[in-house]
Amino acid sequence: MRVDLSGKTALVTGASRGIGCAISKTLAKNGAKVIGVATSIELNDNDLSSDIAGFGGSFRAYSCDLSDRAAIDAMIKVLDDEGKAVDILINNAGIIRRREAAHHSSDDWDAVMAVNLDAVFLLCREFGRRMLERGSGKIVNVASVLSFQGGIFVPGYAASKGAIAQLTRSLANEWASYGVNVNAVAPGYVATENTADLMADPERQAALMDRVPVGRWLKPDEIAGPVAFLASEAASAIHGAVLPVDGGWMGR
Ligand code: NAP
Repeated sequence: MRVDLSGKTALVTGASRGIGCAISKTLAKNGAKVIGVATSIELNDNDLSSDIAGFGGSFRAYSCDLSDRAAIDAMIKVLDDEGKAVDILINNAGIIRRREAAHHSSDDWDAVMAVNLDAVFLLCREFGRRMLERGSGKIVNVASVLSFQGGIFVPGYAASKGAIAQLTRSLANEWASYGVNVNAVAPGYVATENTADLMADPERQAALMDRVPVGRWLKPDEIAGPVAFLASEAASAIHGAVLPVDGGWMGR
């Protein structure tokens, strides 16, 4: 799929691997200048920069711990000082803690909420306000099929992703008439580090693959295409959508 993102600057969180890495490459291939954010110190060194440079794209890494509000503020100040206007915000970074609810620690709960929900709101508020001032912008949040379903042993994660769907709709209601599109994709089961535990468990893996109509793990690139579409002018009339990209999971 090709969309025209030339001249746009896109900030992608969780760019160091998995779905965020695929999104960064896809947006860059479609002409966007990408700022990739993650905590990992190796971000500047990883294959992503060289891959994107290899096809003539633009990529700049920014190391930021999104669970730290002061670090988010500092990142935004640096970008403002550099005069970088973010036209496209992709809130992709996310973590999961698998533990039954009766033993799910408060620390795990707080950690999940800080990255999966609090940081998303902060980034939407800050970059969204700047988009409103300019009268245009695209925000795509990465939700989950667990925005609609409860999941098993992931109470904090499911709660955070349910909230992302509602945040997406709430912001879209406020910002649609100002030229800012806020939408989300809701991935199903994608082969990344996030799902490595599930892939390593033969019983869970078989149960999941039996249930998903497509019958296989999705690839990160298969999430990146719909994100690029929602980030483009082709999606100008789409507001508040939470689009399942799930190999048919939700319809089963
Ligand atoms: P992943 O491979 O574990 O990647 C997560 C990304 O988030 C990494 O780049 C990680 O970078 C970054 N990140 C984590 N904590 C961070 C923090 N405190 N500050 C900044 N960056 C942080 O996971 P993934 O599967 O690609 O997941 C991406 C998104 O898709 C998540 O929101 C996830 O919930 C969602 N999702 C995934 C699936 C799936 O099946 N994989 C399904 C539905 C939804 P560092 O570790 O370098 O910081």
